[in-house]
Amino acid sequence: MSGSNDTRRTVVVGAGLAGVRCALTLRRLDPERMIVLVGDEPHDTYERPPLSKEFLLGTRDHHDLRLAGCDRDALRDAGIDLRLGERVAGIEPGLVTLAGGEQLTTDSIVLATGARPRRIPISADPARVHVLRSLDDATRLRDAVTPGSRLVIVGSGFVGAEVAGSAHALGAHVTLVEAAPVPFERTLGATAGEWLVDRWREAGIDVRIGAPVAAIAHGGSDAPVRVTLAGDEELQADHVLVAIGTVPNDELFHEAFPAISAPGRGIPVDANGRTPIAGVYAVGDAALVHDDHSQAARRVEHWTDAAAGAQRLARVIAGHEPGARPAPYAWSDQFGLRVQVTGHVDPEWEVIVDEATADTLLVRYVDTVGRLRGVTAVGHAATVARYRGELQAAAA
Ligand code: FAD
Repeated sequence: MSGSNDTRRTVVVGAGLAGVRCALTLRRLDPERMIVLVGDEPHDTYERPPLSKEFLLGTRDHHDLRLAGCDRDALRDAGIDLRLGERVAGIEPGLVTLAGGEQLTTDSIVLATGARPRRIPISADPARVHVLRSLDDATRLRDAVTPGSRLVIVGSGFVGAEVAGSAHALGAHVTLVEAAPVPFERTLGATAGEWLVDRWREAGIDVRIGAPVAAIAHGGSDAPVRVTLAGDEELQADHVLVAIGTVPNDELFHEAFPAISAPGRGIPVDANGRTPIAGVYAVGDAALVHDDHSQAARRVEHWTDAAAGAQRLARVIAGHEPGARPAPYAWSDQFGLRVQVTGHVDPEWEVIVDEATADTLLVRYVDTVGRLRGVTAVGHAATVARYRGELQAAAA
């Protein structure tokens, strides 16, 4: 990186939501700083949430997925040195090395590397067994999900459930397989999970709960993919989606600082994105955030947290107060329902069901000392917004 010795420099690794938001906020706060943004995907930064919904349904194409104001022209106009289609191969304090060998000296490094789908071993044609994280994954899946095709989805988390809804709407025959006895226990709570299973079944989805997958195999190009469940039941599919969660892209940090934490758990940061290494930060799905309130460390894989965390981190790097941390919030659109969750959910906490009808739900989670900690709802947007404000105020 060129520039005079007193120029402040930041390299942001990962040009997804968190990386782009961090780079642009930093630019606004510090017009003189040199900022390099390196992303290994060749595309302009795009929104991931529509990949399992509107993109799969064909109501939004890839041009409509771009993050507003964040395309390559906007970034270059902002004076950000944008390197798309390039991968960072290694970091050390003050230095970032690209896979092509170029080295960038820098004062601060932001790791906004996101996460990748967790995989299971398969002995099947990889073209018939999908994961969903990127635009390229979504394009392959969209080509596969045709009316009348058989899709088995392994994993009934947000991505699995949303794809089930979209594929069902497209006329595919969907089987949703979940190893746990209840879906969403740690993200929405068991009550909401059971309520959603009822909605999926009413919609006509074949839902197999408490059914771990033993093997995914397939005998030849025209033969169906065979998904064997524990207990030996076999499901046949034209295509399979494995949606069993993610693994954080934390290798750069762990290879550089192996003593600091366990690989595969995320990059450890405080509530403002600072790792224990001066000048090295992490944000978004890759970050394992220590929560002072609960004294627990969590990876929060939601759009709103990645966006807000990136802006607060930029303020920290620019020497400003980070500002209040909003209460966690996420939404999921599936089967014509908008599911919302704010705060945290813990199976140990008391569950208060304020409403549960065929199309609305309002559940509160109260911890062992009687504090409201989380809310899951369908059809109660205004109430969720109010509770979100209360949770933020309580955490301040
Ligand atoms: P990413 O968006 O994954 O960006 C990280 C980028 O860094 C990637 O482009 C990656 O390729 C790149 N990278 C990694 N390593 C390197 C390297 N060494 N060098 C260069 N680049 C690198 N959230 C919600 O709240 N609601 C939803 O409805 C919702 N739906 C979703 C649907 C899908 C299908 C998916 C996949 C996610 C969804 N999310 C949703 C989650 C939300 O999209 C993520 O929380 C958000 O994208 C995280 O942003 P990020 O920048 O941390 O990671």
